[in-house]
Amino acid sequence: MKLTPQPKIWWNGSLVDWDKAQVHVLTHALHYASSVFEGIRAYATPKGPAVFCLAEHVERLFQSCRIVRLPIPFAPAAITAAIRETIRTNRQDACYIRPLVFRGYGALGVWPDDNPVDVAIATFPWVRPNEEQLLREGLAVGVSSWRRMAPDTLPAMAKCAANYVNSALTVCEAKDRGFQEGLALDVDGFVSEGSGQNVFLVHKGVLSTPTVASSILGGITRACVIQLAKDLGIPVVEQRIPRELLYTADEAFFTGTVAEVMPIRSFDGLAVGSGARGPITQRLQERFFTIARGKAEDVHGWLTPV
Ligand code: PMP
Repeated sequence: MKLTPQPKIWWNGSLVDWDKAQVHVLTHALHYASSVFEGIRAYATPKGPAVFCLAEHVERLFQSCRIVRLPIPFAPAAITAAIRETIRTNRQDACYIRPLVFRGYGALGVWPDDNPVDVAIATFPWVRPNEEQLLREGLAVGVSSWRRMAPDTLPAMAKCAANYVNSALTVCEAKDRGFQEGLALDVDGFVSEGSGQNVFLVHKGVLSTPTVASSILGGITRACVIQLAKDLGIPVVEQRIPRELLYTADEAFFTGTVAEVMPIRSFDGLAVGSGARGPITQRLQERFFTIARGKAEDVHGWLTPV
């Protein structure tokens, strides 16, 4: 998604012009990936813009900081307020929100503590070409030759920049091979996740998704979809998933802040089910969008007005 400049970026406590939010080339995070971030969406609703699962995303941001020992110099309430203030200032109805916490400029060397911790929050529109078609037809996905990182190597459950080297390898390889997305296996060869999405399968009416022990990011959309499945009476299990189950699934889809609920139409060139969006995927997708866009009662308290 190409960026277009917006009026302001929140930068260590104040709103600065988009073009002024810059760093020195010797910024620690550029060299050692000493940063964590979030990806959040605000949806246009009949009552104005509303942030989806704001508290959950801010909580995960602070958990990521804690895991990688990045002392964020703001309280969660201050970050929450700053996110809303930035959206209001940029006058956005619907947008993507990117909070970033990183080791700034000061010293070089892997040990980070001589560097300040800087915080930025950017908001901008996220427009996917062929949005409706993609959400209807889904993605062709290839299993990656790159595995997700093994436990006790990199912290898969932290949304830290370093993990996205693995994600980039996965998606680049997939595109090189003519797929639209990649799916990585975990260190033991069980299904893990996409480059920036959690994965769900449907077999005979039962929804399944890998557990957090398969080196996944604990997706917030994943948690919402598990809740929606329960609401709709669809059985859902979190379990280790052998690769073969990809090829026998009746339906499959990705979840994520960007992916939302995105059907998968094939794995490694083999059609999933009939090769079209399945009925359970469609029900979950519709329910998800109806709530996120404020067109059904927000029974789980997922929307925060801006
Ligand atoms: N896995 C990875 C690696 C991701 O980057 C994302 C996107 N944040 C997800 C899963 C989905 O998480 P969420 O639903 O919280 O956006």
